[in-house]
Amino acid sequence: MPFTLMPSYDDNPRLRDLVARLRTYLDGELADYESGLGLTRESRYTRADLEPVWQRSRELGFYGIHLPAEYGGQGLSFTELAALKEEIGASPRILATSVLGDMGGPLRVGSIFEYATPFQLEKYLLPVLRGERACCFSLTEQDAGSDVRGILTTATPDGAGWRLNGHKVFSSAGPFADFSVLIARMADASGTPIDSYSAFLVDLDAPGCTVAEGDLPMSGEHIEADIILSDCYVGPEQLLGESGQGLRIGLGRVTVNRLLHCPTALGGARRALELSVGHAKSRMVNGAPLGMLQSIQHRLADMATDYYAARAMTYDALAALDAGQRPRVEAFMCKLFVAEKAFGIADDAVQIHGKAGVVRGGEIEALFQRLRMFRILTGSSEIQRNGIARQLLLT
Ligand SMILES: Cc1cc2nc3c(=O)[nH]c(=O)nc-3n(C[C@H](O)[C@H](O)[C@H](O)COP(=O)(O)OP(=O)(O)OC[C@H]3O[C@@H](n4cnc5c(N)ncnc54)[C@H](O)[C@@H]3O)c2cc1C
Repeated sequence: MPFTLMPSYDDNPRLRDLVARLRTYLDGELADYESGLGLTRESRYTRADLEPVWQRSRELGFYGIHLPAEYGGQGLSFTELAALKEEIGASPRILATSVLGDMGGPLRVGSIFEYATPFQLEKYLLPVLRGERACCFSLTEQDAGSDVRGILTTATPDGAGWRLNGHKVFSSAGPFADFSVLIARMADASGTPIDSYSAFLVDLDAPGCTVAEGDLPMSGEHIEADIILSDCYVGPEQLLGESGQGLRIGLGRVTVNRLLHCPTALGGARRALELSVGHAKSRMVNGAPLGMLQSIQHRLADMATDYYAARAMTYDALAALDAGQRPRVEAFMCKLFVAEKAFGIADDAVQIHGKAGVVRGGEIEALFQRLRMFRILTGSSEIQRNGIARQLLLT
């Protein structure tokens, strides 16, 4: 894999064209749309602002592009999808994560397709693929993040279905979603929790379900919601997979996601490096470009080397996924390495940019915040290390 700041994929003409078209869309039409709305990263944009992006991205073939043709996609391989996700991660567009469907769309649905009944496909999942409905994923609670078994949201039997009670936090895309793929702990008839977890498709406008404004992450984006359940009834047709499979469904989704999140972070790291190289060439200090200083040159060299290493291992693991293997330990390694190195690159970019790197609302600041959060979401770096060590010690 050659090192480049602008991958062109000449060995794969279909991908080369897709990437070129995606760059054109992000920098042209989507940029114009955002400036027409006057969007900033901290804007409270609405569902009505997002829907045209879902629809246009679908018209252009990007929304759900990874899916098989029967679902309106182009059946991309994981490595091909990753190349597009890199472009999303490298883009300064605020709504970039709505183009392939990361934010409430087909990519958020992820691998749960395999568990869906015909009814669930028709009512929940296919409308998401068509850009008509949106979903979020709700596992985390205030007192249970990494410790997923510690969740307190319960599902108590009620007739053929269940009553849900609990409070989910940090459900990304929750403010725009119609339903949540929500993981709850099963309870016995008296409401006492047992050691069994299930996944439910929960309509967010159902009686007993409230979507509240979530905590504001450091990125300043209003994309998180709390989902509060108070005797919210879910019928048997809303149970995803079998009862007791909830963590498998929730975390299985996280395992593939773990790898698929890496290219987005790599795109951010690439953009931070590209901006830093540009700044080093144009910023004058003591009458010469900043990049003439060896300390800056070495910093750039280390950033580029880390980016290249992180990218190479990610594509290696993605190629294994494409070959039908299950690169479990490699996925832990990629998430750990990419998260740590991408954040290191963003931190170096701030340093190279000096005061320009810390200006609120600037692109470098946005990359720094986003890549810092990546060390926590989809499993923190410590949880990835636990996974790697477990594998080493068990085999
Ligand atoms: C921007 C953002 C978006 C998110 N989106 C979603 C979403 O859409 N849906 C959803 O359900 N959740 C979401 N989350 C939640 C995310 O998955 C959790 O934040 C993450 O799992 C960590 O949990 P926690 O924040 O409760 O930290 P904690 O679990 O309390 O961990 C705190 C610290 O302790 C460390 N730690 C915890 N347990 C261990 C251990 N066993 N060994 C070693 N170290 C440990 C952690 O690594 C961390 O450093 C999101 C979070 C963020 C920041």
